[in-house]
Amino acid sequence: MIADEPIHTDYGDMACTEVVEIATDYLEGALPAGDVRRLERHLETCEGCSEYLAQMRAIAGSLGGLSEDSIPAEMRDGLVAAFRAFRQG
Ligand SMILES: [Zn+2]
Repeated sequence: MIADEPIHTDYGDMACTEVVEIATDYLEGALPAGDVRRLERHLETCEGCSEYLAQMRAIAGSLGGLSEDSIPAEMRDGLVAAFRAFRQG
């Protein structure tokens, strides 16, 4: 985390990449209420991120917990790439 570049901005739409960044906090209930509202608003309009959160929930359930280390980097990168393709297509 780079302190000079906060990901929690308080305006406009949340980017898919930001959803991926804060997904673990969201599922752990550690996300500030304002960010939760923005994230859930994004989920209503973004099928890719809804799928991603559903998969994250499944992983969390199967592991009995969730941490940054439990998410393979390739999975995150692959999903972000898939979101971009989805939104462009
Ligand atoms: Zn999205």
